[in-house]
Amino acid sequence: NAKGWDITDPVEFAALDAARSKFSGDYKWNFALDAALGEKGTVQKLVNPANPQDHVGEIANATPAAVAKAVELAAKGQKTWGTKAPSERAAALRKAADLYEEHAAELFALASREAGKSLLDGIAEVREAVDFLRFYANEAERLGEQDDARGVIGCISPWNFPLAIFTGQVAAALVAGNAVVAKPAEQSPLMGARAVELLHEAGVPKDALILVPGAGDIGAALTSQPNLGGVCFTGSTEVAKLIDKQLAKTADSDAMLIAETGGLNAMIVDSTALPEQAIRDILASSFQSAGQRCSALRMLYVQEDVADHVLEMLYGGLDAMQVGNPWDLATDVGPVIDAEAQKDISDYCATLTNEGRLLKKINAPKEGHFVEPHIFKVSGIEELEREVFGPVLHVATFKARDINKVVDAVNAKGFGLTFGLHTRMDNRVEAIGKRIKVGNFYVNRNQIGAIVGSQPFGGEGFSGTGPKAGGPNYLPRFRVAKRAHEIAETGQ
Ligand code: NAD
Repeated sequence: NAKGWDITDPVEFAALDAARSKFSGDYKWNFALDAALGEKGTVQKLVNPANPQDHVGEIANATPAAVAKAVELAAKGQKTWGTKAPSERAAALRKAADLYEEHAAELFALASREAGKSLLDGIAEVREAVDFLRFYANEAERLGEQDDARGVIGCISPWNFPLAIFTGQVAAALVAGNAVVAKPAEQSPLMGARAVELLHEAGVPKDALILVPGAGDIGAALTSQPNLGGVCFTGSTEVAKLIDKQLAKTADSDAMLIAETGGLNAMIVDSTALPEQAIRDILASSFQSAGQRCSALRMLYVQEDVADHVLEMLYGGLDAMQVGNPWDLATDVGPVIDAEAQKDISDYCATLTNEGRLLKKINAPKEGHFVEPHIFKVSGIEELEREVFGPVLHVATFKARDINKVVDAVNAKGFGLTFGLHTRMDNRVEAIGKRIKVGNFYVNRNQIGAIVGSQPFGGEGFSGTGPKAGGPNYLPRFRVAKRAHEIAETGQ
C-alpha cells in the first residue's frame, strides 16, 4: 500500500517531471565515510551508465580496518536497539517509509543516473522499498517477541536493485532487533548511502546501522569478521558460495546465511497460448531493465507447431522496442550498468553470432554503456553455461510429446528462480506446476517482479538458500535458533 505515482496522469506526471529535473544536471551526491570508522579508503566517482560524461557523484569507500571497527560499533549499538520494543523499531521503519515517499523524486533521479533505470523502473523500485519497510514493520509487531536477535548482521546487496533489495535486507534485520553493517554494491553505492541517511533520520540509531561502501574486498572483510550473527546476501551464485565458505571458516557456528542468487529462467509457450499476450510478456521478461533482473527470461521454449508464427511476432515486437536514454519516456531498453558488463555481454553475443545462432537483434546507441538486444537459437537450456546478465534471449522449439523433457532439463540445470508458462490448458498448469523445481512460477504473465507481502520472492537450488523475501517466514530467520528450527521443520 505504498503511494502510487501515475505517469499517465498529466498533472501527476508534470509534477514528477518538474521534481526529477531538480536532480539532473549539476546536482551531485557526496557521501563521506562516517568519521567514527577511521581513515577512509579511496574516493570513488560514479558516472551515469547512459552517459559516462555525466558525473553523478562520489563516495568515500571503507577499508578492511574500518569494517572491523563498524562491526565493533554495531555490536555496542545493538545492545540498545535490540532491547527496544518491537513497536518502537517498527515505528522507525514506518517513518523511513514516509521519508522515502517524500524524497521519491530524488530517489527516481538517483536510480536513473547511477543505475541507468527508467522512470517506471525507478518508481517500481521506490515502491518496493517502501513496501518492504511497512511489511517488515507489520511482521515484527505480529511476531511480537523481543530479546532474541542474532546480533550484528552483514547485509551485502547487488547493484540491480540498489534501493529495494538494500532496504529489504536492512529493514528485516533491523526490525528483528539486530544491528546492521551494510555493504552496497560498488556500482551503485550512492543509493545505499541515501537510504541509510533516511533510515537514520527516521530514528534508527547511527550505531545500529552502519554503511561500509566498497567492492568485493570490503564484502569479504565483512563476512570474515568473527561473531557475526549472520549474513544476508543477494548477488551472484559464485559470490554466495565464497561467502558460505568464508562464514564456515570464521564466524560463530550459529551464523546464518540467507542468499538470493542468480537464475537461468525459462518459459514454455505451448500451441494453445494467446500469442499477443505471450509476446508482450516475453519481451517484458527478457528486455525490460535491459535484462538485468535475476528473474529475467533467458530461455524460451516454443511448441514447434506454432513456432514460426510466434517467433515472427516476437521479432516484430523487438523491432518496435527503443533502446536509449532511460530518462526518456519513449525508451524501452536502457543501458547496462557499466563498461565491464557491456563488454562481457557484447563478447558473448559476438561469439554466438559467429557460431551462426543469431535470430534477431536491434540497434543500440553507440555512446554510453548500451548493448544491442539479441535473440539466439539454441537446442535447449543445457547449452547455457552461465547467467548472462543483459538483454539476451535464447530460443528453442519442442514437440508436444516432449514437454516433460523440457521441464526436466530446466530442473536438471538447477537454477530455478523463475519459470513461466503460457497455455490455456488448466491441467497443464497443474502438471507442470507440480513438476517444475522453481522458486516462483508464473502463468500467462511476465515472469519478472514480485509483490511484497502477497507474492514473496526467492529461488531453488543454486538460486537461493533462504526463505523468500517479502514473505511470512523471512523475518524469523533474523532471530535465534529456536525460530530457525521451527522453520526447518516446516521445510522453509
Ligand atoms: P555480485 O555477486 O558480483 O555482487 C553482489 C555483492 O557482493 C556486491 O556488493 C559485491 O561487492 C559483493 N561481493 C563481491 N565479492 C565478494 C566477496 N568475495 N565477499 C563478499 N562480498 C562480495 O552480483 P552483482 O553483479 O552485484 O548482481 C547481479 C547478480 O545478482 C546476478 O547474478 C543476479 O541474478 C543476482 N540477483 C539475485 C536476486 C535474487 O533475488 N535472487 C536479485 C537481484 C540480483
